[in-house]
Amino acid sequence: MVSTRNEHVGGHGAMRVETVGDGVHLVRGMAVNWVLVADGDAVTVIDGGYPGDADALETSLAAIGRAPADVVAALVTHAHVDHVGGLARFAARHGTPVRTGPTEARHTRREFLEQAGPSDVARNAWRPRVLAWAVHAARAGALRAVCIPDAAGDAVPGVPLDLPGRPVPVATPGHTSGHTAYLLPGAGALVSGDALVTGHPTTARTGPQRLRAFFDHDTVRADAALDALAGLDAGVLLPGHGPPWPGTPAEAVALASGPRS
Ligand SMILES: [Zn+2]
Repeated sequence: MVSTRNEHVGGHGAMRVETVGDGVHLVRGMAVNWVLVADGDAVTVIDGGYPGDADALETSLAAIGRAPADVVAALVTHAHVDHVGGLARFAARHGTPVRTGPTEARHTRREFLEQAGPSDVARNAWRPRVLAWAVHAARAGALRAVCIPDAAGDAVPGVPLDLPGRPVPVATPGHTSGHTAYLLPGAGALVSGDALVTGHPTTARTGPQRLRAFFDHDTVRADAALDALAGLDAGVLLPGHGPPWPGTPAEAVALASGPRS
């Protein structure tokens, strides 16, 4: 399933491009992923890393032979700093349109904020790996204020977007109130954001799983969002954290259900 890997290792901004289908690439940053979907010269970017990943986002485009000007739009799964921090810088540099669902667009514009803060992390710092992750996150810019003031909320659930990959937004509220996954029907890939992941720096667990509960704005709705994913037709999962996972959403959801760490 994973056909090529393209390693770009350095200090800050290290990342790896994993090509999972025709024109579909999961880019693995230091602690978070983003997705590039190319169709001819045009590219859709989905999410964009921490503020410290902004240069890595540009490097990942170069790694697939594309330039920032080829990005016709960036989609957002959710507006946490590890997913829109690099994108905010990228969009400001290049004038890239940023789109998501209506609720998450308000979050991306920072009309409200639903993100675990330093006190939530401190309360959970006794858990294995959480403190080390928090130190990395802070270095990557997690404590910086991030906002994309022009983010548009015109991604309607179930309606394919006229962008490379024809992404179909899937409402998956819970991790944030407007969390939106994207189905890439041609590639049979599901970009699940943080609704369903396959790993995270705060856990040793591998395979499809939910994030630690303290990262979710609403854990009950986040668990229910798995039902929205389970019925989708795809053969590979491209999560917000962790490696790509070959299998159907139903199989991934079955593995992720049950108690969380
Ligand atoms: Zn995340």
